[in-house]
Amino acid sequence: MTDSSAAAWSAAEVLALFEQPLPELLYRAQGVHRRHFDPGQVQACSLISVKTGSCSEDCAYCAQSVHHDTGLESEALLDVEAVRAAARRARQAGANRLCMGAAWRGPKERDLEPLLAMVRAVKAEGLEACLSAGALRDGQAERLAEAGLDYFNHNLDTSPAYYPEIVTTHTYEQRLATLERIRAAGLKVCCGGIVGMGESREDRAELLRTLAGLPVQPQSVPINELIPIPGTPLEDAAPVDPFELVRTVAVARILMPGSYVRLAAGREQMSDELQALCLSAGANSLFLGERLLTAGNPGEDHDRRLLERLGMGLEPREHACADLEP
Ligand code: SF4
Repeated sequence: MTDSSAAAWSAAEVLALFEQPLPELLYRAQGVHRRHFDPGQVQACSLISVKTGSCSEDCAYCAQSVHHDTGLESEALLDVEAVRAAARRARQAGANRLCMGAAWRGPKERDLEPLLAMVRAVKAEGLEACLSAGALRDGQAERLAEAGLDYFNHNLDTSPAYYPEIVTTHTYEQRLATLERIRAAGLKVCCGGIVGMGESREDRAELLRTLAGLPVQPQSVPINELIPIPGTPLEDAAPVDPFELVRTVAVARILMPGSYVRLAAGREQMSDELQALCLSAGANSLFLGERLLTAGNPGEDHDRRLLERLGMGLEPREHACADLEP
């Protein structure tokens, strides 16, 4: 199996990767990483919530669902000037991209114009723009692409089999349909999942196999560790073995060699050593900033110090998706 034929991985092959001795798995993942990226560089993105809470969906991990009593204060859609200011701050902090999250099942028609204005404002600040706003209807992805949106985030969260345990208000098939709309409109896809929701290793393997088997592999693959939020059905979820997170990152790197694998939510609860291991397993993207939508994140100073201690640095802004091998 070569790196580029990842779409053809069988379930047994992906599980066999997970089951390798950790040093073997890391060695293999590092080889793939080095052939496609500079292993000393990390892409930096910044994330803001542009519409918070009161979401109709029942995702079991999410503080923003109306189905869970988390005490979160809802906020209406942000003003475009607030987004412009956030983009400016993100740029000054060294981020390449501003990711905007809106807690919705999907944007209604009346929401689209304000979203388009936000995209234009982020682009005018010289950053890439990413939007996460739930399911898209016909034509919406095209309009976002015309406004200059670079990425649309739409996570698959977990395996097809485990998804109904996590979400009942929409289906995996609906998620896949939105991913196809995004791709067909020429937008880059940001799509990943969450580790630590009570899923099995088989579920983690199937999530990665599904992502790798999409018609085009997602250009960005966020791997999140569950932040158990009081008031959600997963508030008491048992933490996953940290080495399982490292394995998940490494297998993602091997299956999706040219994708940016982002160590996303949950870093605040990870040790520096665990984050270093994930970066050594092929993760090459981080969110900078102290907030991730409604959750905490290590501060920029801490991240800069960590990267310095590891002898690593932020990817230059003009750097495009790398493919160092012809
Ligand atoms: S759709 Fe998004 S915002 Fe809404 S509950 Fe699910 S994860 Fe949270």
